[in-house]
Amino acid sequence: MTSTQSNELTQPETAPSPDHHVVVIGAGLSGIASAVRLQQAGIDDFIVIDRADDLGGTWRDNTYPGVAVDIPSLAYQFTFHRNPNWSRVFAPGAEVHQYHLDVVEHFGLRPHFRFRVEVTSEQWDDEASLWRLHLADGTSITARFVISAVGPFINPKPDGSGIPGFEDFDGIVAVPARWDASYDLNGKRVAVIGTGATGVQLAGHVAPDVASMTVFQRTPVYCVPKPDFPIPRVVQLVFRLPGVGAALNAIGLAGAHIGLWFVINTPGAIIRPLMRGFDKVVRGLYRQYLRRIVDDPETADQLTPTFGIFGNRPTLNSTFPKAFNLPDVNLCTTAIERVTPKGIRTVDGTEHEFDYIIAATGHELFSEPSSYPKGRVVGVNGTDIGEWWAEHGMQAYESVAVPEFPNRWVIVGPYSWTGTGWHGLAENAVTHIVRAISLADARGATRMEVRPTALKRFTDLMLRQGRHLKFYFTELNHGIHSYWVNSAGDIPILRATTILAARRASRAFPEDDYSYR
Ligand code: NAP
Repeated sequence: MTSTQSNELTQPETAPSPDHHVVVIGAGLSGIASAVRLQQAGIDDFIVIDRADDLGGTWRDNTYPGVAVDIPSLAYQFTFHRNPNWSRVFAPGAEVHQYHLDVVEHFGLRPHFRFRVEVTSEQWDDEASLWRLHLADGTSITARFVISAVGPFINPKPDGSGIPGFEDFDGIVAVPARWDASYDLNGKRVAVIGTGATGVQLAGHVAPDVASMTVFQRTPVYCVPKPDFPIPRVVQLVFRLPGVGAALNAIGLAGAHIGLWFVINTPGAIIRPLMRGFDKVVRGLYRQYLRRIVDDPETADQLTPTFGIFGNRPTLNSTFPKAFNLPDVNLCTTAIERVTPKGIRTVDGTEHEFDYIIAATGHELFSEPSSYPKGRVVGVNGTDIGEWWAEHGMQAYESVAVPEFPNRWVIVGPYSWTGTGWHGLAENAVTHIVRAISLADARGATRMEVRPTALKRFTDLMLRQGRHLKFYFTELNHGIHSYWVNSAGDIPILRATTILAARRASRAFPEDDYSYR
């Protein structure tokens, strides 16, 4: 593959020219944020590649019935291109996808995107100071700098859920992230495995249309009532006024900022009992809420988590619990033994027959070293990123840079989530990354690598300031399957600083935290 951009950036004469100055892997919202910020920084020689055939990432892939954001649309957008026209408080998935397409059109970035380009491995060439990206079609491209924008949920895992027998099923196994528009659930017998944000959204939406539905729940999820309604035209006009969108967003973020500040700075002797009490009160309130809206008290109790509201990711959803009031919608909390040709067998020997099995069983997560197969990303002296993370724990300087992997950054990295929506997280990371590339370019450097001392300082800060968060997730809510806690018992998702501190750090990290050559 050859570059369609001319490489006009100044390189030292000794360094071979790569195909591209920057290659961004992934054309989802992180890749789009990268493209906008690279363009704004005057870096034109970049491409954004994606294995799919269009941009949009998760909102391109997830077209299952009922898909929508479960945080308010106003908080689910870029600061550099706010949408005043959201149709609902919680926009449907197709509208979010369209918003991302509009951002790319608005900034005229389409020519930078390349589709059906699947990276199978990334290898650092220390002599040439560049990354070789090997592609599924057997070719390769080279890049001086790589931004990995693959996002937090790498691949859906219907089979990785550990349930055997999917291949034996005579009906249709439907994976939400690969929904086929020809699926027709009307009048069908449907199983939904999984009660994460996806499973409950889908089940609640389709329940009125199916002949019968059984939801297989391993761990209940908090479904907080979703105050969703159409946004009137007059309100959309108000959102068009300069500063209104930003001000509303700032009010929302202030809550998260203060909450994080409180958790970080309050002494353990105070915060820990407060957390315990908070969980107890909220759990009690939620139990009462479910008993009020779910007709069958036993089902209401089974839907009630035994852990605190943040022990696993809560979701906003008003339809899922009420779906169990429909005559042929059932909850099954008996563990699944296997999928059979006719349906699902649970460990008590019961055979459940279905036409469709919806496997809403989650994804490979960025926060697990095992999500990075050996040889996928290979840095200096053959260092493998999955092995590095398995050995050192999930860590990255300011969530984005790892020693021994020069000229490469990740957007959703360890300790990256700041309490904002995903767009805020991506913008924060991209601010750091584009500044880093600009610093290298300004020096005429072809190689920059984060210093281990800088990484240690950052990781120590996360562990110190995150001690109460760790208590909450790994002690108070011990043993809960959640993506807050990884298999090493770490909580490498939440950044233990306030939102403003995270923003400041991305804009003004010490230049000397990297070495340049
Ligand atoms: P998830 O939260 O990981 O949920 C997976 C579900 O599958 C869990 O209930 C899990 O149970 C269950 N499961 C896995 N293996 C199982 C097995 N062998 N037997 C029975 N159950 C099994 O995945 P997700 O629902 O796709 O959500 C992932 C994330 O995507 C969300 O948290 C959110 O960040 C994002 N999302 C966002 C929206 C939105 O509206 N913005 C919508 C959907 C998703 P355990 O809990 O027991 O492991």
